[in-house]
Amino acid sequence: MALTLSKKALAVKPSSTLAITAKAKELKSKGIDVVGFGAGEPDFNTPDNICEAAIKAIHDGFTKYTPASGTLELKQAVSDKFKNFNGVNYSTKQIVISNGGKHALTNIFSAICNPGDEVIIPAPYWLSYPEIVRLADGVPVYIKGEKENSYKVTAEQIAKACTDKTKAFILNSPSNPSGMLYTKDELEEIAKVIVEKDIYIVSDEIYENLLYDNNEMISIASLNDEIYKRTITCSGVAKSYAMTGWRIGYTGAPVEITKLMDSVQSHQTSNPNSIAQKAAVEALSGSQEFVSKMKEEFDKRRIYMYERVNSMNLVSALRPQGAFYLFVDVNEIIGKTYKDRIIADVDVLAEILIEEYNVAVVTCTDFGFPDHIRLSYAISIENIKKGLDRIETFINEIA
Ligand SMILES: *Cc1c(COP(=O)(O)O)cnc(C)c1O
Repeated sequence: MALTLSKKALAVKPSSTLAITAKAKELKSKGIDVVGFGAGEPDFNTPDNICEAAIKAIHDGFTKYTPASGTLELKQAVSDKFKNFNGVNYSTKQIVISNGGKHALTNIFSAICNPGDEVIIPAPYWLSYPEIVRLADGVPVYIKGEKENSYKVTAEQIAKACTDKTKAFILNSPSNPSGMLYTKDELEEIAKVIVEKDIYIVSDEIYENLLYDNNEMISIASLNDEIYKRTITCSGVAKSYAMTGWRIGYTGAPVEITKLMDSVQSHQTSNPNSIAQKAAVEALSGSQEFVSKMKEEFDKRRIYMYERVNSMNLVSALRPQGAFYLFVDVNEIIGKTYKDRIIADVDVLAEILIEEYNVAVVTCTDFGFPDHIRLSYAISIENIKKGLDRIETFINEIA
């Protein structure tokens, strides 16, 4: 009895994306020319104007505690962004600034879940969702976005998955890992079901700035009053402004949920980093030129990668509409043989790629899609070319 550990903590699966990145780093440190397709963050530096705002904050002595849920200044900047970019009205009283988007999600489920409450998660999903839900004593319930429906789930599927224990549905559009975007019609349908079933929807909009082919971001909370009341919108500066290390995320939510997140956060972490909050104000209210430049570069890589992969045998991918990932169907490779070795599953495939070709890919087993891999295009075009050349050589060796 005495020295036993937390069952809840023991049940947490370590992040497999981080494991692959670590393996690639290890090989790199040995001088091996590895191409890592695992990148989950922009390969750009944080823009100068944002860094300058942080430096100024330090020199101005803005280095003390702030209110637990963030400074009024940053909340105002987030509120303005919600209004102007997303078309959603969240007053500063409805906003919590947290230590990154992941922390924002942790706050949300801490605020809404009671033990046994079910949270519907559409696969393919970001691998942290199930773990975050479980840590808040919730129970993940999975539904599958079929490839034929662009890896998206339908309102009907959500309705069917609802029980009297359902608390919430998680929406991530554009999606990590699929890059897919829900249309306005699809969102309207989903909103109808959410209101009908009277559950919450958690809308993770972290990739809201990275949309291609003239697609525009539609926040589900903007659709009507009924869905607005049931939506908790979360986002952050990490992906949009190449600020992953700064750790600033935020939520817009009904006041009663915001209050709970505020008090939970006040005891668990206190305020997010004061300097990073100043930087985030500049990110959201300063020039947005960087965002379009970064997007332009991602767009070129996206098209190249999409066309190249679809020109290969045995693999295919849908054209991503957002984020910076290509979601590759490798189902036809599974069961085939490579140099007398049967490629029994996607993990064997990834092993061969890293060991024989020095290419690191993310297997999507932990994303709820065991016959897919995720290739990030947040790496240089030269590396993308080199890595895809190697993957093509590998495919041509398969019998
Ligand atoms: C990166 C990411 C986040 C949040 O990232 P933070 O670094 O914690 O701000 C949230 N959701 C998805 C789907 C992501 O890919």
